[in-house]
Parts: sequence; C-alpha cells; structure tokens
Amino acid sequence: MCINYKTIIPVACGLVVSVFMLCTVQANSELPIADAHVHYSHDSVELTPPSRVIEIMREANLKFALVSSSDDNGTEILRNLAPDLIVPGLRPYRRRGETQSWFTDEGALKYVEGLLRKNKYATIGEFHLYGDSAELDIPRRIVELADENNLILHAHSDADAVERLLAQSETVKVIWAHSGFDDPEDIANLLSRHGRVWADLAFRSEVGSGGTLSKAWRELFEAYPDRFMLGTDTYTPERMYYIPEHAAGARVWLATLPQELAENIAWKNAYNLIMPVWEKNRQAGNVNSENAGSANSVSDSNLCNSEQNDNALALAGDQYRAWLTTNEPIEVSQATSITVTLCGDISNVERFEIDASMPSHGHGTNYKPEITQLSSSDSAAKYQIDGLVMHMPGMWRWELQVVAPDGVDTLMKEFVLE
Ligand SMILES: [Zn+2]
Repeated sequence: MCINYKTIIPVACGLVVSVFMLCTVQANSELPIADAHVHYSHDSVELTPPSRVIEIMREANLKFALVSSSDDNGTEILRNLAPDLIVPGLRPYRRRGETQSWFTDEGALKYVEGLLRKNKYATIGEFHLYGDSAELDIPRRIVELADENNLILHAHSDADAVERLLAQSETVKVIWAHSGFDDPEDIANLLSRHGRVWADLAFRSEVGSGGTLSKAWRELFEAYPDRFMLGTDTYTPERMYYIPEHAAGARVWLATLPQELAENIAWKNAYNLIMPVWEKNRQAGNVNSENAGSANSVSDSNLCNSEQNDNALALAGDQYRAWLTTNEPIEVSQATSITVTLCGDISNVERFEIDASMPSHGHGTNYKPEITQLSSSDSAAKYQIDGLVMHMPGMWRWELQVVAPDGVDTLMKEFVLE
C-alpha cells in the first residue's frame, strides 16, 4: 500500500516499485535508517548546499548519519547545522585522492592530531588500508589515537588489515567498511573470531538486490544479528541525492526479515555501537570548549558584547557590527566556510548578503557563496557562509550587506591573501 500516507511516501514507494517491482508493507516505509557511511567532501560541499543535504537526510527518515569527509570541513558544517542528526567521523584525508598515500604521510597524521585537539568525533575513518600496511607507524599511531580519544576505527580494509589493527589494541573497535567486499562466508569467518568488529553494508548493492535476500546473506544476518549496519557511501557528489533511494531500497529487503532483526540492521546496531561513544565524547567536548573559552563556544550575544576577540575578525557598519570566524586558514582557490555573527537590531534585517571582491582588479569572486542562518535572537544572528572561493592571491575585500527597511548597511574588511 502506498496511499494514505504523507505525500513523500507515494514518491518513495513509486521509486521502489519501478526498481523492485513490488511495494512493501506500509509499516516499513517509516522504518528509521542509520546511515553509517556518508561523506560530504570538498567537491560535494561546492555542489550541494549543506541545508539541502540535511533535507535529503530527513526525507530519507535517517535516525542519524555517520559522516566523514575529505577534508573535515564538510562534516563540521553538517554537524553544526543538524547536531541531532550528524555524528562526525574524522577522515585522515585533506583532499580526494589520498587513499593510497595517507598511511605513509606525516602530514596526514598531523592533520588528524590537529583536528582531534579541536573537535570531538565518534570514529577515525573511513580510511583505506590493506594487509601489512596496517603495521606501519602511522596506522599504529591511529590505533593509539583511537584508544586515547575513545574512537571507533572505520576501516575500508581487507580482513587481514582488520586483524592487524585489532591486534594492536585490546579495546579498539572496528567498523569494517563495505564488509570488506568479502562474501558472506569470509565475513562470518572474521566476525566469528573477533567480537570487536561490526560490518557496514555500504555499496553492497548485491545485498537484497531485487528486494530479496539470498540464503547466504540471510543466514549471515541471522547468525550475527547485532553486527551489521547500513551505509550509502556518498563518495561522489551526485550520490548525496541517492541517500533516500538507498534507504527505501534497504527497507524493501529488510521487510523480508523478522522485525527485530530488520530494526537491528536498519538502525539499532549502529545506534547501540556509535551513540554511546559519541554522547560521551560530545559531552567531554562541551566541557572542554567552555573551559577554553574559544570563539566557537562564545555565545552570539557574548561575542556581540565584546570589544575584542582574538579568534574573530571585527567589521563595523553604521548600524550593525559583525564578527567573522573561520576554523581553517583561508587559502587561494579553496572553498572556505566562515561564520558571521551579526550584531544589532536583528528584527529589522530583511536580507543579509556577502561578497568577496578584489578592489584593484574590479572583479569579484566567480562563486556565489551559500548562506545558512544558524541561529538568531533580538540582538544577534549567526550565519554560516559556505563556498566562498578567492581564486588568486592579492588584496581582497569582504563586503557584508545588511538590507533593512530604512536602507542598506555595508560592512567592509580588506585583507591580503598570500
Ligand atoms: Zn566510503
């Protein structure tokens, strides 16, 4: 039955019908899904606004999404936008294309260590690692960091590398990405020998293909009902849009399993493994950042009341003031995200715009940044600006325009990008 439900469901069921030639029971169309394998990497950030990504996830009725991105910026944007939905994982990649080099790259390790000092996560990964590469110094250090920071490893690895990682720690847990692309027999083999391994089914479209499970997969799930979880694997930008379809497709084959097992795989296994870790780390992070008094933890109104802040750049217009903060150095031709805290009479603000230009060249940026309002009160509003790209070195000017009924207030700041 696809009718008698809110408008989104007929569409989802219609999709399922066309793909699988059957429309599953209505009850299951609401089954929440935990998507344990999402990436929102730099190219996705440029192509799909974060607010759209969150919409897509809500359309898919995701309980939560474990997100890791190259670089970490995308994860951070999503987490700030929807802290109820996003569980952050720390990927050791600064750009796409580091899958084969990170484990011998000191820079990748420094990058991970730097982010761990700054942010809280639930996992380290997804990283790619095979065979005896797991014995190298950098992967060994990653296992230590996982233990020191209460993090689960998310490993795109063969069974050999997973076992080598496990052998380096008595406590570390591993989410085995894509279940190693192994067949059910080999997956069972690893799970039977190690209680600290869970397996995600990302990019395993053969599982439940056509809406039914093969005997081998069904037996595997029945033998290990607590160890499997779902994932879309949005490794390319266009796959962000595949999240709802992936969830709908999974619901079809999950409906062929006993309800408890279906719920386990749909979201409970991921939830039970990841959420306690994330809750603990998140709470530790709140305490730390309050103590540190960093720009991120200063509330909007506090920031508006301050005269100076070492972590924020001040802009002033006739009626409004603003503080700009960014978590990463601004680099030529890299999409930058900044947070703007606007101070003044917010009820009067009709529109808020930002542009970057080069005064000496008479031209601006070629990219239109995406503005998302994160919060607002009477006297302060916070905006996330994504996709700000300054494509060459030189003198740049940031221009913020606050459009109010009685005119436009322009706030400007010039700076040199090297
Ligand atoms: Zn992946």
